Amino acid sequence: MRVSTAFNRMLRLPGAWVQDVAFSGEGVIVTVSLRRRAPVCSGCGTRGLEIKDRRVKRWRHLDLGSCRCFIECELRRLRCPDCGERPEAVQWARAGSPYTRDFEDLTAWLAQQMNKTQITRLLRIAWSSIGKIAERVVADHLDEGRLDGLVRLGVDEISYGADHRFLTCVADHEKGGVVWAAPGRNAATLQGFFDQLTEQRKSSIRAVSIDMSAGYEKAIKASVPDAQVAFDPFHVVQLGGRATDQVRRAEYNEHGRSATKHGTWIKGARYSLIKDPSNQTARQLATLAEVQQTNKRLYRAFLLLHELRWVYRVPRHQAREQLDAWLSWASRSKLTPFVKLARTIRKHKAGVLAAIELGLSNGRLEGLNSKIRLLSHRAYGFHSADALIAMIYLCCSGIQISLPHR
Ligand SMILES: [Zn+2]
Repeated sequence: MRVSTAFNRMLRLPGAWVQDVAFSGEGVIVTVSLRRRAPVCSGCGTRGLEIKDRRVKRWRHLDLGSCRCFIECELRRLRCPDCGERPEAVQWARAGSPYTRDFEDLTAWLAQQMNKTQITRLLRIAWSSIGKIAERVVADHLDEGRLDGLVRLGVDEISYGADHRFLTCVADHEKGGVVWAAPGRNAATLQGFFDQLTEQRKSSIRAVSIDMSAGYEKAIKASVPDAQVAFDPFHVVQLGGRATDQVRRAEYNEHGRSATKHGTWIKGARYSLIKDPSNQTARQLATLAEVQQTNKRLYRAFLLLHELRWVYRVPRHQAREQLDAWLSWASRSKLTPFVKLARTIRKHKAGVLAAIELGLSNGRLEGLNSKIRLLSHRAYGFHSADALIAMIYLCCSGIQISLPHR
């Protein structure tokens, strides 16, 4: 068998035939020619454009054994009235990419499964390249249909990067995936999402859940006035955790901080106070028992947080009663952070109860939230929000990537 025939069968590049194979220090260089005659603009797909010149372009393809493999092909550069000067389109690579489609699909598939550091080692590509590949693959796969028939949405902000920039993510409570993400975290950001929806798409939305402290409500009221605004349970419980921690810090300062034995002990009691007792270790539970014996204010803060969790655990029809009881206890607790929190929750009571009535599952959205947070940590080093957004779509919106061998 001739070498070029062997490589044709092995690489299976659509629309190309292998002319020559050479080995260099970089790896295997496979020179191919295009089968198609009439060039097509890689930007817009227009045919019959004027040819400006020809240039050799190179793409990284799937490794051959331990060798890197590159595809080289002479392409015609076209003068396109819409795109300017563009090379002709090829079937084996996405427009503007230095990688073949097979290589990009493999990278994207791996990005759905594993950490970026492992992918950079396995595929021998740069950290930043993965973000760019994700952008191209997502642009290819993101389905407009994901915006059809949305009923219950969850909106949340995600911080990323060392300088704490923010993204707004919109998730579908029904399917549990992200349907939209954009830089920013205020009403105007969310407005951008609603502006993208047709009237028909907006009309199916029945409820939107948000964080009480976020500024999204204005956009919801303006764009989908009939939708109910609900407050995400896990954010409400998070506020309870924060109030408990504020009480703990006040007690710590009160008791001579780390200079005294009791101060040091208070410092170490954090997890016993904040963590759900059903998830605590034996040691943390023992500390909790000590809290009960020695510090009434701390123990009250723990109980208040725990009772707040129970608002979401009692049978649905008892939730209002449980919340009212909690509000009156918190208001009388003489613990300033909880008095303040009770005021906030009272103001937003309808939305807090709406989340329970709508049965907005805490676990699912919280799970999605931590998955996105993990991605944003991994994305440390992505320079653009676009790359992180692409990773979020790639990993959290149900995109299915077919592997090259399938
Ligand atoms: Zn064009």
